[in-house]
Amino acid sequence: MDRLSARASTFARGLRERVRGEVREAEALAAYSTYRIGGPATVFLPGAAEDVGRALAFAAEAGVPWFAVGLGSNLLFPDEGLDALVIRIGKGLDAVRQDGDRWTIGAGLPAPIAARRTAKAGFAGLHVFVGVPGTVGGGVYMNAGCHGGDWAMVIERVTVVDPAGRDCVLHRDEIPFSYRRSGLGDRVVLETTVHLRPEPQAHLDEEIAEMFQWRQRGTPFNQPCCGSVFQNPAGPSWKRDDGARTAGQLIEAAGLKGERFGGAQVSPMHANYVVNTGSATAADVRGLIDRTRAEVASRFGVTLEPEVKLIGRDGRYLNAE
Ligand SMILES: Cc1cc2nc3c(=O)[nH]c(=O)nc-3n(C[C@H](O)[C@H](O)[C@H](O)COP(=O)(O)OP(=O)(O)OC[C@H]3O[C@@H](n4cnc5c(N)ncnc54)[C@H](O)[C@@H]3O)c2cc1C
Repeated sequence: MDRLSARASTFARGLRERVRGEVREAEALAAYSTYRIGGPATVFLPGAAEDVGRALAFAAEAGVPWFAVGLGSNLLFPDEGLDALVIRIGKGLDAVRQDGDRWTIGAGLPAPIAARRTAKAGFAGLHVFVGVPGTVGGGVYMNAGCHGGDWAMVIERVTVVDPAGRDCVLHRDEIPFSYRRSGLGDRVVLETTVHLRPEPQAHLDEEIAEMFQWRQRGTPFNQPCCGSVFQNPAGPSWKRDDGARTAGQLIEAAGLKGERFGGAQVSPMHANYVVNTGSATAADVRGLIDRTRAEVASRFGVTLEPEVKLIGRDGRYLNAE
């Protein structure tokens, strides 16, 4: 087959012939990102797990790059949109099965729902994700974590689809999890089986309420954003006399809290969040990220690395994966 463009109608038509889910052309990616930023792309909403493999196989045949997205809560799409097929893992891939203290959860289920559902049944381990937006698949891929927990701590196995469209089950010890990384590379997560520990439901309810309140106090939930923009720097070189240590503390110490670049702003609530004040473009957010990095580097000699995934027009990562 001749190489096609992800934006070509012939590609969208060919995909529709092979899958059950919906294929949307020239869809604004702003609707698929918690930043509410991003230009047009062809977006595929798989109706079932088999659809994902079929779409990947067809994309490979047509020479079209692809990009998997969950809730878009940790990425910045480009203003020009993507010349790649966007595969949105959500409804249709969100089933939950319980077998004792093992739960198998579809990649498309929002992680806070998985957190509440398992806690309500008296199981701990996923409850820490109650205030972390995003899907189960995005959480596994990112090894998202908070309150001392992360996905790697509870996962037993993950079902993925490889770029040729084949399903495969990976056991925990085959996945090179590290801080906020799974190392899953170009594989799409379909579901995961986690091993949770029984805990009294009343106790979990209390913990969840506490974690949720803590989040609400320190997170600009009322403005489009993508969570922590920078990773916290490690190692002794960045340690300052007055004890500033997190990325947010360094940014605040550099006097950048509230700083604006176009429609993007360093959140006045939490300096490691860049919020969209309403009209921000990806170029604004990137401009503010660059300005922040330069200012913190010149003041404290620390180079902050973005945690948010900056996506290029071809669907590749502009920063380290
Ligand atoms: C207000 C706010 C607070 C946050 N707090 C935290 C926090 O405390 N801790 C934390 O770790 N994160 C936090 N985040 C970031 C984000 O919520 C997590 O990284 C989340 O797990 C991302 O899930 P997602 O479905 O939105 O992934 P997306 O943003 O859609 O994608 C992120 C990455 O995962 C890949 N991906 C998504 N789904 C799949 C899939 N099914 N298969 C393969 N790859 C996939 C994408 O290609 C991309 O590389 C926060 C974000 C916001 C907006």
